[in-house]
Amino acid sequence: MDLYEYQGKQYFARFDIPMSPGATADTVEEAVAAAEKYGYPVTIKAQVQVGGRGKAGGVKLAFDKAEAETHARNILGLDIKGHVVKRLWIETSSDIDKEYYASFTLDRSAKQYLCMLSAKGGVEIEQVAEEDPDAIARCYVDPLDGFSEAQARTLVDEAGIDDEAKDGVVDVLVKLYRCYVEGDADLVEINPLIYTPDGRVHALDAKVTLDDSAAFRHPEWADWANLDELDPRERLAKEKGLQYVGLDGYVGIIANGAGLAMSTCDVVEQVGGEPANFLDIGGGANADVMANALEVISTDEKVKAIFVNIFGGITRGEEVANGIVQALGRVDIEAPIVIRLDGTNAEEGRAILASHESDRLVSLPTMLEAARKATELAGGAVR
Ligand code: GDP
Ligand code: MG
Repeated sequence: MDLYEYQGKQYFARFDIPMSPGATADTVEEAVAAAEKYGYPVTIKAQVQVGGRGKAGGVKLAFDKAEAETHARNILGLDIKGHVVKRLWIETSSDIDKEYYASFTLDRSAKQYLCMLSAKGGVEIEQVAEEDPDAIARCYVDPLDGFSEAQARTLVDEAGIDDEAKDGVVDVLVKLYRCYVEGDADLVEINPLIYTPDGRVHALDAKVTLDDSAAFRHPEWADWANLDELDPRERLAKEKGLQYVGLDGYVGIIANGAGLAMSTCDVVEQVGGEPANFLDIGGGANADVMANALEVISTDEKVKAIFVNIFGGITRGEEVANGIVQALGRVDIEAPIVIRLDGTNAEEGRAILASHESDRLVSLPTMLEAARKATELAGGAVR
């Protein structure tokens, strides 16, 4: 789950990371009231889950009430890369001497936590990463050893952080690591992490991705659920408790088990088709689950055919087949469906499907044949 900046700041606050005080506002009036409360100058910031708000005109400083009103009016409703601003964050403005960058994330290929720190933070960090990668100091953190203050000091030296800011940056890095690990995040990023003329280091921005698999440990996260930021297909899938990831293609995919669902996407690609989604219906494949899965897939207008790929394990083939047949009776599906059923009692299952076959419902014995058929029915060029 990605957090908005203001939520990221609420999260950082729990780990004592220094920041400016502020409040959210959903209307111009609320924005002006917040500006009056926190005192000028205030920074008025668009709350959208996309980077580069500053460059897009979504971050403005206001020096008096009239300016606060103008900026709030201009930023609310602004479209930033397809994200329309509905909420603002208003905080006491900071004077900036230096802008740094700091983050912790998981480097999957190294199977370790990665900390990155740069003295060249700010809105051009992507360009720095591309043109001057050595300006970003990196270090791996073994999760069993944790991240020590000594490691933080070494990194701060390597990154060329200004002497006067070093202690403050070390302090923030150590807190940010706790926030990343104890807070169960996949990413915590501060850009810019600023050094102020009066000698303080603090977070001016907050980018946080929480690890959804840890949600059960954090009932407080429920306040941050941003269902309206989700793809509508993903929102419906979430409501139905399905593991769904929207993709851009036109062959809808339903499979049981994440591994099989991923392989199914791969095989569709391999034969020249384009998967519209990843959908894992999990262990069971009863009528309810199957009907939900078909319903989610059929909300996607790009889907021109559906490939149902089921390998019966504990769930027996005839149960799966009955589930599919019942689900088809419940959900109105326009796209043709190709089913590959294998595993436990596959023969019995296929026999049940056979009596329902038509040019809209095809059953094929292998994954490859079924992937070809689904791609062909979807109008794709089969390889
Ligand atoms: P982003 O563009 O979406 O990353 O939004 P940020 O919150 O990082 O803000 C972008 C830039 O606006 C920062 O790099 C700062 O240069 C500037 N900025 C943000 N807040 C303040 C502030 O309180 N004072 C000043 N002077 N500049 C700010
Ligand atoms: Mg930023």
